[in-house]
Amino acid sequence: MKAIVATKDHKAAVVEKEFRALQPGEALLDMICCGVCHTDLHVKNADFGDKSGVVLGHEGIGVVKEVAPGVTSLKVGDRASVAWFFEGCGYCEYCTSGRETLCRSVKNAGYTADGGMAYQCIVTADYAVKVPEGLDSAAASSITCAGVTTYKALKESGVRPGEWMLLAGLGGLGNLALQYAKNVFGMKVIAMDINDGQLDFARECGADICVNPLKDDVAAIAMDKVGGCHGAVVTAVNKAAFDTSVNAVRAGGCVVAVGLPVETMDLSIPRLVLDGIRVVGSLVGTRQDLVEAFQFAAEGKVVPKCQMRPMEDINDIFEEMEAGKIRGRMVIDLAH
Ligand code: NAD
Ligand code: ZN
Ligand code: ZN
Repeated sequence: MKAIVATKDHKAAVVEKEFRALQPGEALLDMICCGVCHTDLHVKNADFGDKSGVVLGHEGIGVVKEVAPGVTSLKVGDRASVAWFFEGCGYCEYCTSGRETLCRSVKNAGYTADGGMAYQCIVTADYAVKVPEGLDSAAASSITCAGVTTYKALKESGVRPGEWMLLAGLGGLGNLALQYAKNVFGMKVIAMDINDGQLDFARECGADICVNPLKDDVAAIAMDKVGGCHGAVVTAVNKAAFDTSVNAVRAGGCVVAVGLPVETMDLSIPRLVLDGIRVVGSLVGTRQDLVEAFQFAAEGKVVPKCQMRPMEDINDIFEEMEAGKIRGRMVIDLAH
């Protein structure tokens, strides 16, 4: 079976992988496609430690080919996801209190478990979320990480309909954040990116105000035009965007950190305390969040922009991602 793995020299390679037998509780998926997330780029670069040899990919969609005896949550022919939240223990304080992505024994696809960039993938059946009918597989792949992560982060912000949201970063995650913010949560949006191409795309997707921090004083514009945003979701892979976001929210505002630059941010303690600012991290979404995020996409409220690419393009895709040339998502075509 062909699969894309991370290599020791911080690249990706298409290799042959051995099949293994299903264990109890597992299902085998024939993969259809898998999106390329910036987290895959961090993993192959060993930003969070060496993971060479692991099959990359956590925006996978496949069709169930086989289930282990006793599996009832999936049946042959279902379409299902291969998500970053690949498996939790099911019984710890996080798993039993609606915070399962924080499980300390978690497995993550494309990181600590073989992921979705392969012809086939073995999933823990109870953790693979079914794709609703009417949602095409490429679109579903983008929702499996980019969609659910931003849907969840917007929920975490506590920002209400009609209030202002700053979206810092309009890449693969950010453009879906924008669509959920506008079309699902009814928020007003300031879109911020250093790339004017992303801002043009954001305008097309309905952003109310677009700003480029390389040219504009974003915090000043947010304060002048809307009195400061009620919240911010930061998907930019850059520390400066986090600092700007803290300065662009009004008193009581919430900054939700999603992007993963391997850096520290500056936090003025008086700003935090005197203005009651909250800064919180948000990690993907639960299985229920993914069910909801899929449903909004199936209803056409969120329309991922995807381009299918062959497996062999993976290193080119990573280069394009690093150079900021991608609008929406590149999706690896695995329907062989
Ligand atoms: P992407 O490369 O598609 O998009 C990043 C965007 O940030 C680009 O449009 C880029 O131009 C923009 N940007 C860079 N510097 C900026 C700045 N200073 N100000 C404003 N915008 C700036 O990446 P992606 O796939 O959207 O992923 C974004 C980040 O989110 C990555 O670090 C990824 O690992 C992380 N991520 C986190 C979670 C989570 O659960 N928290 C889930 C998925 C991805
Ligand atoms: Zn991801
Ligand atoms: Zn757990």
